[in-house]
Amino acid sequence: MPVMHGVATMKKKRRIAPHRIGQIIASIITLGHVPALWTGNIYQGPLKSVCVPILNCWGCPLSLYSCPIGALQHFFNLQLFPFYIMGFFGAVGMLVGRMVCGWLCPFGMLQDLLYKIRTLKFRLPKWMTYIKYAVLIIIAGIIAWISGEPWFCKLCPAGILEAGIPLVLVDKTGDIRALVGWLFWTKIAIFVIVIALSIPVKRFFCRVLCPVGAIYSVFNRFSLVHLTIEKEKCKHPNCGVCVKICPMDINVYDNPNQKECIRCLECVFKCPNIAVSMNFYKPEIKITKTETA
Ligand code: SF4
Ligand code: SF4
Repeated sequence: MPVMHGVATMKKKRRIAPHRIGQIIASIITLGHVPALWTGNIYQGPLKSVCVPILNCWGCPLSLYSCPIGALQHFFNLQLFPFYIMGFFGAVGMLVGRMVCGWLCPFGMLQDLLYKIRTLKFRLPKWMTYIKYAVLIIIAGIIAWISGEPWFCKLCPAGILEAGIPLVLVDKTGDIRALVGWLFWTKIAIFVIVIALSIPVKRFFCRVLCPVGAIYSVFNRFSLVHLTIEKEKCKHPNCGVCVKICPMDINVYDNPNQKECIRCLECVFKCPNIAVSMNFYKPEIKITKTETA
């Protein structure tokens, strides 16, 4: 039995997508250090030892929690294997796959909103989606291990937006502004490129560069939360609604459980033929006849 199915038949038109509500609530919870608005100070209390499952800069004055990629690199910097962080990613991934990217990440929401700007739109070539695995293994892994520095954090566009720019702007003593150099401007350049490409391309950063997305994408095929397409109900190639509304440019009618799917469930809600549903994954068990003597 599908857990969620064919909400497209609901008579009332939805004004705001459910995953957008999740993104807004998650943004308020993760970036809820309100006193930073007048003090400019980074929260350093007990919640900072807790990781959220999505990209969330530790250095953001509004941030209450830690970033899992920052924590991962912290262990690599000490040349230790990050059992805790890998277990955390594994547990979230096995449970929901990449759903946290669709429902919780503020940087993902920002890209969704940027794509709403009316302009020429482009589809990404598939090979570009493999770059994020290189970013994860080379920058957040090997280079962090060898150099002892969190190099992904130093270049992260979410980090410059959440931490770099606000910290420079609210710097009362001028100490932080004095540190602004080539690395800051490199980060600004990466940020501007990512923002510019998020207008014509759906979720450019998530699909091409984000190491968190790279990790969860591996779990999409096996995660407990799963999507199913009923081919007999699907009207492809005469329909195409799911492909049009998918924020990750997935050919849903082929296989909705592709590695890029962020389980936003828009295809489940909007398929006019009620062909896509959300289920809990059951591995296929092949029963073979045992011969009796
Ligand atoms: S892939 Fe996108 S949505 Fe997921 S953590 Fe990275 S930035 Fe956020
Ligand atoms: S396939 Fe469906 S659930 Fe997955 S990202 Fe696309 S619209 Fe969202």
